[in-house]
Amino acid sequence: MPKSSSRSSVKLLIIYTGGTVGMVYDNATGTLHPIGFKAIRENIPEIARLGFEYQVHAFNPPLDSSNMSPDVWVELSSIIEKNYDIYDGFVILHGSDTMAFTASALSFMLENLGKPVVLTGSQLPIGEIRNDAKENIITALEIAAAREKGRALVPEVCIYFDFQLFRGNRSKKYNAEKFEAFYSMNYPPLAEAGIEIKYKKPFILKHPEKPLLVHRKLDPHIAVLKIFPGIPQEVVDAVLNIPGLKAVIMETFGSGNAPTAGWFIESLKNAIRKGITILDVTQCDGGAVELGRYETSALLKEIGVVSGHDMTFEAAVAKLMFLLGQKISRKELERQIETPLRGELTRG
Ligand code: ASP
Repeated sequence: MPKSSSRSSVKLLIIYTGGTVGMVYDNATGTLHPIGFKAIRENIPEIARLGFEYQVHAFNPPLDSSNMSPDVWVELSSIIEKNYDIYDGFVILHGSDTMAFTASALSFMLENLGKPVVLTGSQLPIGEIRNDAKENIITALEIAAAREKGRALVPEVCIYFDFQLFRGNRSKKYNAEKFEAFYSMNYPPLAEAGIEIKYKKPFILKHPEKPLLVHRKLDPHIAVLKIFPGIPQEVVDAVLNIPGLKAVIMETFGSGNAPTAGWFIESLKNAIRKGITILDVTQCDGGAVELGRYETSALLKEIGVVSGHDMTFEAAVAKLMFLLGQKISRKELERQIETPLRGELTRG
């Protein structure tokens, strides 16, 4: 973004939740532990030269994102709601481990979002000589501040990491050691940062016509059933009979296929009869569930399994918690699961 007087009128809120981005090595134990935002700022003096105003809301203590939970998602959405009219954009510094879950959850909780919410973090701590934290934070701030004709360029929840901007609910952490930790297999990047930041406008969500609506009710009564060859009946039944269970994400093979054994189909049928929603999401990172394409998924369709289409596992978790919290009928919930609400799935 060129330096101009309009830039100095942009106000951003940085929400620092924790993560490697703000960690240091403990010499005694050799493990990484979180530090405060002050120490981060000291390591990026360039922030002061960006030219826009910003304020910081720092979690105390900072969180390793493995401890992320729906309660924190509610807290984040409340911070954004409270500050929505004051700031032009939000940057959330977050551990990379569960960043895609948080981005997915916020995308559903923040309906009619008209301002950027950019999550970023890093693979190496800011205090290391070689690190990806500095670039990720500076460019995430630039993206959150980017405007065109007086409006935000990216009015959605997204993840910026290693020169790429992804839709949050399409992203996945796929690599634990590359700087390129995330990808989005089923949706193109929203922007790519090189000498310039190139925005792919046709892929970015349009500005909403209605005011922001924040949903705070999330219901975590879900479970995951990951299918593998030889999965024992006791395992399937143990998951499907969890007391209070409302929905199951069934991670299947390829385009949504699962065993056709009589006991397996019977167990699923019983669960569906008891009112449990079974959502079929593929174990593959790319491509989509297509119920009925193979014999091994036709039966699933017949008994009432719902298709996750090309949704990521992370988006499926967040969407189910969000929809279960909406207190809508099961029929409506299953209809909405298969409907794109925030650009999280493609319906052919
Ligand atoms: N464990 C860290 C976290 O997710 C890893 C990271 O930030 O990359 O908080």
